[in-house]
Amino acid sequence: MVDPGWNFDNSYARLPKKLFSTIEPNPVEEPELVVFNESLARTLGLDPEALQSEEGVSVVAGNETPKGSEPIAQAYAGHQFGSFTMLGDGRAMMIGEQITPDGERYDIQLKGSGRTPYSRGGDGRAALGPMLREHIISEAMYALGIPTTRSLAVVTTGESIIRETELPGAILTRVAASHLRVGTFEFIANWGEKEEPQALADYAIERHYPEIKKDENRYLSLLQEVIKRQAALIAKWQQVGFIHGVMNTDNVTISGETIDYGPCAFMDTYDPETVFSSIDVRGRYMYANQPPIGAWNLARFAETLIPLIHDDQEKAIEIAEKEITKFGDLYRDYWLSGMRAKLGIFNEEAEDENLIGDLHKLMKEHKADFTNTFRALTFDKLEEAELFKSEEQWHKRWQERLERQEESKEESQQLMRDNNPAVIPRNHRVEEALEAAVERGDYSMMEKLLNTLSNPYAHTPEQEEYCTLPPDTDRPYVTYCGT
Ligand code: AMP
Ligand code: MG
Repeated sequence: MVDPGWNFDNSYARLPKKLFSTIEPNPVEEPELVVFNESLARTLGLDPEALQSEEGVSVVAGNETPKGSEPIAQAYAGHQFGSFTMLGDGRAMMIGEQITPDGERYDIQLKGSGRTPYSRGGDGRAALGPMLREHIISEAMYALGIPTTRSLAVVTTGESIIRETELPGAILTRVAASHLRVGTFEFIANWGEKEEPQALADYAIERHYPEIKKDENRYLSLLQEVIKRQAALIAKWQQVGFIHGVMNTDNVTISGETIDYGPCAFMDTYDPETVFSSIDVRGRYMYANQPPIGAWNLARFAETLIPLIHDDQEKAIEIAEKEITKFGDLYRDYWLSGMRAKLGIFNEEAEDENLIGDLHKLMKEHKADFTNTFRALTFDKLEEAELFKSEEQWHKRWQERLERQEESKEESQQLMRDNNPAVIPRNHRVEEALEAAVERGDYSMMEKLLNTLSNPYAHTPEQEEYCTLPPDTDRPYVTYCGT
């Protein structure tokens, strides 16, 4: 067999047995590689040519198990829209942890690979459209500089799956720093015995935060680190107008990567109440709620660590609560420093928060496009943003603010270019690319889109056509979980 360079370890499978199930692959009829991420393959130490060969593809289709792989499905629980429930990988298979030539460790997971002991009523499969969508959006997030799981490949299975209609089946190869979730901790805290929660916590520390291993209270440090990473992550989402759509605790990683691209989408018109997901009827996960929901999810994480933080439960709760209350300020600091960069501001002034807040108010009032407002400011193309025609006052305040710092106008503009993307995966662009691929087997539009999204801060003339708004902005965009 051609070996593309799989170099697996299976450290997760050495954790307490309750945390996973060993599974058998579910072969598919006729796997065909439709998307392949060559640069990611190289980063992983995999030979692109061998991976794209028939034998290579049979691995990412789940038809063959490479040497060293021990396929498992992971157990986890989670709070879904606020209610606690048992979940687990119902349609995914971890084939192993790839150790790269640089010594990094990445989970390689096949999503849509068939039924597992956690599938409940589901078929364990995924449809092509949603898998392509995950590929596009996760790779766009990566290029935007936002921590995220990535996508190595998408294969079609040659089999249909039944949803409302019959759809082509597909499998996505997801690459993640790990698949440890807040929900994994909730699972073991609820159903684990004695030492099991501690084993999981130690594993997470070893894998993601080895620098805290020797801390006096390493479980408290773990909580602090995860709070920090999540605060930083959510601030980054807000700064590009990304709405995750389903921030359940099973979709919150311990590593701080964005995971689970289901009903997510980017906001065009700025409105803090934006919700895209068809199932989020009450707007629990609307844009403006992402930071407070982040804190809520971290409180669920903190609860799982209570017995590890202190022998005295009351003391432990007090300590954990104190940490959770820090989320707000931490988030605000990340957000402020990111917003200052978007406005070309290098130093800090107390009034900055108002300046930024007022801009958001104006964007809302004028129904301004989020991304293009910052582009217009970056390139001083005020004629392109209706908002600044009538709101000269704000613009003047901003200009005066820039003049009060040492850095030159050019340095300011460079900072803005590096922090305000020219292109985001706009919904209408994503939809047209998906339609061409799924309905007509034409992947050219998607390739072109991926290409432009791979360099969002380039600000090239070729990107112009991806900056335009959808023709019919009145119709609300609706996303589906795509299960
Ligand atoms: P998600 O909405 O993707 O976070 O998934 C929530 C839960 O539903 C997870 O436990 C998934 O593994 C499970 N699930 C989603 N789709 C399917 C499916 N087609 N078959 C079996 N389980 C699924
Ligand atoms: Mg999930």
